[in-house]
Amino acid sequence: MPDLSPALIDDLARALPGMRASVDAADRVAYARDLWPRHHMAVRAGHPAEQRPGAIVWPSSTDEVARLVQWASSHGVPLVPFGAGSGVCAGVSPRDDVLIVDLKRMARIRKLDPAAPLVDVEAGHMGVPLEMTLEHAGCTLGHFPSSILCSTVGGWVAARSAGQCSGAYGKIEDMTAAVECVTGRGDVVTLRRRTSGPDLVPLVIGSEGTFAIVTSATLRLHPAPTSRGFGAWSFRSTRDGLDAMRSLFQAGLRPAVARLYDPFDAMLARQGGVKSEPRDGSSKRKRGPGLGGVALRAVLRRPEALNNLLHSDFAAHAMGGALLVVVFEGTDDRAREGIERARQLIEPTGGSWEGETPARRWLAHRYAVSYRQAPVFAQGGFVDTMEVATRWSRLGELYDGVRRALGRTVFVMAHFSHAYPDGCCIYFSFAGSADPKLVREIGWDAACEATYDRTWKTALAAAVESGGTLSHHHGVGRSKAPRMLAELGAGVDVVRALMRSFDPARILNPGNLVPPDTGSSHRGAAAPAPATSVAIDRESLLARIEGSMDLASAEERLRADGLTLDASIPAPSPTLGSWLAAGAAGARDRWLDPVDQLLAGLDATLADGRPLVVHPTPRRAVGPDLTALFVGAGERFGRINRAWMRVHPVGVPRPSSSPFEHDRDPPLSAGERALLDSIEL
Ligand SMILES: Cc1cc2nc3c(=O)[nH]c(=O)nc-3n(C[C@H](O)[C@H](O)[C@H](O)COP(=O)(O)OP(=O)(O)OC[C@H]3O[C@@H](n4cnc5c(N)ncnc54)[C@H](O)[C@@H]3O)c2cc1C
Repeated sequence: MPDLSPALIDDLARALPGMRASVDAADRVAYARDLWPRHHMAVRAGHPAEQRPGAIVWPSSTDEVARLVQWASSHGVPLVPFGAGSGVCAGVSPRDDVLIVDLKRMARIRKLDPAAPLVDVEAGHMGVPLEMTLEHAGCTLGHFPSSILCSTVGGWVAARSAGQCSGAYGKIEDMTAAVECVTGRGDVVTLRRRTSGPDLVPLVIGSEGTFAIVTSATLRLHPAPTSRGFGAWSFRSTRDGLDAMRSLFQAGLRPAVARLYDPFDAMLARQGGVKSEPRDGSSKRKRGPGLGGVALRAVLRRPEALNNLLHSDFAAHAMGGALLVVVFEGTDDRAREGIERARQLIEPTGGSWEGETPARRWLAHRYAVSYRQAPVFAQGGFVDTMEVATRWSRLGELYDGVRRALGRTVFVMAHFSHAYPDGCCIYFSFAGSADPKLVREIGWDAACEATYDRTWKTALAAAVESGGTLSHHHGVGRSKAPRMLAELGAGVDVVRALMRSFDPARILNPGNLVPPDTGSSHRGAAAPAPATSVAIDRESLLARIEGSMDLASAEERLRADGLTLDASIPAPSPTLGSWLAAGAAGARDRWLDPVDQLLAGLDATLADGRPLVVHPTPRRAVGPDLTALFVGAGERFGRINRAWMRVHPVGVPRPSSSPFEHDRDPPLSAGERALLDSIEL
């Protein structure tokens, strides 16, 4: 690709005279990548930025972003939105002809209303200063990704982020009440969450800079916690620990933090999860690989044997079993009561109380562990993480499948975090080194990259095969885009169609999120009609219900199993499909329990007859939430054939988080209507 020509840059300077811009070589290298570990290997191999952006611009207002997009669209210049570059999936990898749009000069808090409570904050605001301002006002967003020190609000929204306290506050999509963005058409539009009408916010969340540039987000807040309750339990096996974790969330408990470590990860967590500093306080480290480096390389070259050894029952027992760490928080006695209730649920079924210390220690070191990768890269190996998710009934299968796939080429450990009543995320951490056979053929660096690529490919295939999603919160980027067909099937075409609607000239982050359209994509086949109208997954508290079934009959069927949809059913009873299409009036207010959801997935027929399946996986981070095209949208885009609904055991009270005063059904603005009308699937 040719660089942006000096004439074009001059033209940009004339079109937007006040906007900061740079074509400086150092800036172009600095903005050439995000934190995808594959980039680290390229740097180590002496190729820090084979492709670098043509220029970087720093707009300072929404108006400037809009004028920039209009200019870029009329000149056919691709734009890549950039938050803080902490993404780990090559979401910002630019080509030589693109302009990077760094949003960090847009970091104002436009409105902070502690009474609602909500904040309207610009996209370039970094995480830590935002929380500090909110804390000063007696509030918290409740969003604490491990990258909070190096990520922005816009990046969170664009990549569907999850924080460490998702067990009480949900993910970023559960916090977002409105998004102001500039579409690829150059239009400024504020999209607002709507309970029973069309809701375009879930389409922009997770669109990873390919639909629009997010310029601000209105986020729901909570009172800052004044008390915390800590607890930890050990279990003979990871499976026992998972049962305990599920029982907490399904009993209506909402610990802000719930992390279950498998035996090896648990052993590290018991030791504090972080390397201790030298006792003399010096920060000196030995240079070069040394003995540790040689040992590390040797171990990483034979990962399969090590994995088999560490994951045996004998080793699990010797290492002290799995460990569940829980933190409740709030403004009253509920945090302490949460621990008491958790003890009553967990201990009679075999969990052993380990006291408060492991949870307190986790909190004290909550951000430390993410920054320990550098030494492994320095020793010539690689480290990465993979976060997948599925419903509870398939979680064991997903854990075994992905661990086995990873374990062939890399050393692997795992913990389970981000739990919901219907499922959970598994966070694998792995470390590997070059395959010795390949080293002889192609040299160390290329062999390392090849091993890394093979590892990811087989592990992602295993994730999809085991009923999991490719990503729970890191997103897709360019690194997972080639696998999106496996997860979304015909949904990939729907995402492409949405891209064309939001951004007809396709200037926003080209090459990101979905694979190139070769015209031969898998179109998907209609799912065969199931034998029963209602199929219950008791373990995940989900029910797959036919769209043509009337709601009252579905409720009656569920009641026979001691379950309920917990919605007031209109009279006369609509079919499930038409009820969802009309916005599910009578369902419980979604803001009451941000951790829960009404609809987990669906199987639909698009208006032109193509089938679309959104798998029932809790909180996918694989692009836009395509269920938004059906819920509250009438049958404009297609018809729901069947839906995976969350169901609730009769008599188990549902939790209520702090109050949130906000218009649940604002009227559709002219901008939203125009955008909606432009969508052609
Ligand atoms: C050590 C470490 C720990 C991490 N822990 C977590 C974690 O706990 N939870 C989690 O969710 N993620 C985590 N991540 C991943 C990463 O921090 C998140 O994906 C984060 O949301 C990215 O934010 P950013 O501002 O750095 O975005 P960037 O990396 O700059 O961009 C990410 C993507 O969003 C797009 N984008 C950015 N800003 C905008 C905008 N304003 N409008 C439109 N598109 C935009 C970019 O084009 C890109 O595709 C971690 C990463 C690291 C390195």
